[in-house]
Amino acid sequence: MDFALPLDIDSVKGFLSPVEGAALYRAARECAPLGPCLEIGSYCGKSTVYLGAACQRSGGVLFAVDHHRGSEEHQLGEEYHDPALYDGAAGLMDSFREFRATMRRAGLEDTVVPVVAPTRVAARAWRTPLSLVFIDGGHSLEAAMTDYRGWSGHLVPGGLLAIHDIFPDPADGGQAPYTIYRLALASGLYEELPRVETLGLLRRIY
Ligand code: MG
Repeated sequence: MDFALPLDIDSVKGFLSPVEGAALYRAARECAPLGPCLEIGSYCGKSTVYLGAACQRSGGVLFAVDHHRGSEEHQLGEEYHDPALYDGAAGLMDSFREFRATMRRAGLEDTVVPVVAPTRVAARAWRTPLSLVFIDGGHSLEAAMTDYRGWSGHLVPGGLLAIHDIFPDPADGGQAPYTIYRLALASGLYEELPRVETLGLLRRIY
């Protein structure tokens, strides 16, 4: 790793590998001078630390969109449910408290702007051009399509569209992220950069 993170990244819950995180860091370092970065699906803030640290060093801003009620697989009784992130009184997942604690620990509250809302709602009124969009939200086809449609159009030429959990072989994982990745490529608006593990990277060329 050719950079230092503000905290022990293994202390942050999440599903991003260090190699993917480093690629996100480099992407945000490169893009941040072109405009704000935005991520969809922050959970406890692991990817936010990589992206946010890069934005902070570039004097940029990172918007972190998440309703913090968990994706399909985080719900009670599902495979990735974490009881520590369950709000029993509300009967709902709540990763926002943990997310805020991570941002505070990482010293990123001067750079990261949490947007606690469904991505569809946040996208409805969004008008700000973005230099990087990282899609790591819900993995249903509908959720992935909503994120792709709602946010990719705000990328500036030269900006990067990053998509997590790309599995070209269906035996390895769900296909929704790969579906929007291929849609983006087929649009002719992007050039494909080398994939980093399951992190797809597309550069907006128009
Ligand atoms: Mg992911």
